[in-house]
Amino acid sequence: MEITYYNILLPVPTEGVYTYFSEGLLHTGERVVVPFRKREITGIVLEKIEKPDFECKEIIMVCDNTPLFSKEYITFLKNIASYYTCPMGLVLQGILSEKILNMEISDTEPVKKHPIKDIILTNEQQEIADSIQLNTYCCHLIKGITGSGKTEIYQEVAKKVINSGRQVLYIVPEISLTPQLIERLSYRLGVEPSIYHYKLTHKARKKHFTDFVTDNSKFMLGARSALFVPAKNIGLIIVDEEHEHSYKQDESPSYHLRDMAVMYGNILNIPIILGSATPSAESIYNAECGKYVLHSLLERPNNATLPKIEIIDMKATNLIGSMIAEPIYDELSNIVKRDEQAIILLNRKGYSTYLYCQQCGALAECVNCSVGLVSFKSKNKSLCRYCNTEYNILTCSVCGSKIFQEYGYGTEKIEEFLESMFPDKIIRIDTESVSSIKTLNKNLKRFENKEANILLGTQLIAKGLHFPEVTFVGVLGIDNLMALPDFRAMEKAYQLLVQVSGRAGREHLSGKVYIQTMNPEVPIFNMLDNTDLEFYKWELSRRNITQYPPFTKLARLIFSYINQEECYNTAKITANTLKSLKEAANLTIYGPKDATLAKLQNKYRYEILIKSSTNSDLNKALIIAQQIFNKCKKGAMRLKIDKDPYFMM
Ligand SMILES: [Zn+2]
Ligand SMILES: [Zn+2]
Repeated sequence: MEITYYNILLPVPTEGVYTYFSEGLLHTGERVVVPFRKREITGIVLEKIEKPDFECKEIIMVCDNTPLFSKEYITFLKNIASYYTCPMGLVLQGILSEKILNMEISDTEPVKKHPIKDIILTNEQQEIADSIQLNTYCCHLIKGITGSGKTEIYQEVAKKVINSGRQVLYIVPEISLTPQLIERLSYRLGVEPSIYHYKLTHKARKKHFTDFVTDNSKFMLGARSALFVPAKNIGLIIVDEEHEHSYKQDESPSYHLRDMAVMYGNILNIPIILGSATPSAESIYNAECGKYVLHSLLERPNNATLPKIEIIDMKATNLIGSMIAEPIYDELSNIVKRDEQAIILLNRKGYSTYLYCQQCGALAECVNCSVGLVSFKSKNKSLCRYCNTEYNILTCSVCGSKIFQEYGYGTEKIEEFLESMFPDKIIRIDTESVSSIKTLNKNLKRFENKEANILLGTQLIAKGLHFPEVTFVGVLGIDNLMALPDFRAMEKAYQLLVQVSGRAGREHLSGKVYIQTMNPEVPIFNMLDNTDLEFYKWELSRRNITQYPPFTKLARLIFSYINQEECYNTAKITANTLKSLKEAANLTIYGPKDATLAKLQNKYRYEILIKSSTNSDLNKALIIAQQIFNKCKKGAMRLKIDKDPYFMM
């Protein structure tokens, strides 16, 4: 038997690949078990190579009869690694857990079929669906006003792809992956979808994974991780709510799901559909540049009208309970009287959101983080919302006093007030009151069944929910969101306002939206109509002037360590070295400076921001930054490189 040598990709966070030999012939994409640092580990065959001039070990076992991973998938892994300047082994580790990499692929039962319930598309929907060509790469961006039926288009195109014998991957934010959606899709497409997200049991995950990679199932509905299921016959990828920030992965490789879906679609040469009522400014820009094709849906079927939006100047109106603008309060009274339904959005949980020492005026902060504490009355405690440390008794760090004044309000305080005015008419939903998707769905169901008139909550309630009886939406506290130190703050506020406004008056009832603010002159308040691209023109021109994405490539380097001085020094050395590079002419380097969260979980944090007009110069800088850091880091010091960052805190 001839001995052959192979480069094997292992799920380990180190640079480079590992070479092993085998007595049999292997193929790219096959899984093999190899000895690695005193244990056995599953890896992927990348390529056959010439006999190396160093000694190597033998492959223990080949796992697959046919390669589990296609050549395109391996190209995809390589491209992710190169785009995020991240070792390929770390990419593999980050996107597929070891359990999945070791999964045994066996024959499975045929997937359940469903009788198809056909629906008639509107002309507008049909035209868009017809314009999407199969079997060729193109990224379609569907911007549909809330309630315009983007999903009807997804389903229509998905059906065509399935009928042509290929597979469809449909990705939604984790929170939208509801039983209702699964059921609706089953009947529209005539097949039960394979489901994929990280909360599945191992047994269920194994079944869905196997069904999809063996092409037994034609349709997978999943959260972010579904993109990396190595199916070989995918003919369409749909990314719903493409603007969702939860698509950005926090840990390395800190990829953005949407961008990775587009990258993969390009490699596979298939169409991609991105959909949203409020696309990201980046995607609108990509459409303007001709990288994406923009389709606009402007009609609401059944002639449902868009809600009337009013901006309420808090400086010129009474605040009921010192919190709620009088017109919003009056509207709630009417809703309760008429037994209709309303939504109140407040993107802050807790009771009081600021606690000041009565003696000296110092803000009560977490001892581990540079963050103000929020009080929770029901728990009789204060809490740090970043590290979750609980405080039963507060002591002022400056003067030692134990008496604090409470300011600001969160959902708990609003609930208490509304409950006192309208007893038993309120359901509150935030991550404090609902601890799981199950209780979330239960509470939403209660509201749907009209067990309450007012649904109060954080942005959990703003997304894609369908309550036909809601005629009024009141928004409190949008000012906090707009004031965040984040170049996307206005975009995030805009998206939230448009999304939550879309909850008002969806079917036969017309709706009203009142937004209370201290800053009624902010331009986005006049752009909430969302039937045109006015907001995007404004936002993109601001980004262009201030040189933020998409007009520049951006990366954020966060150094964190328990010793403040050593942390700063390492960041400083890194920044200085970067500034002395010959590529520095094409880079703008800011910092190091304190991160907005200057201390988090007892670690000091320093930030360097790098802007670059080209991706390649930015990548060079990131690789060098990592090398400098590796050389001079101390102890457990960490460097997090976040390319195309979404969290600016
Ligand atoms: Zn004090
Ligand atoms: Zn904390």
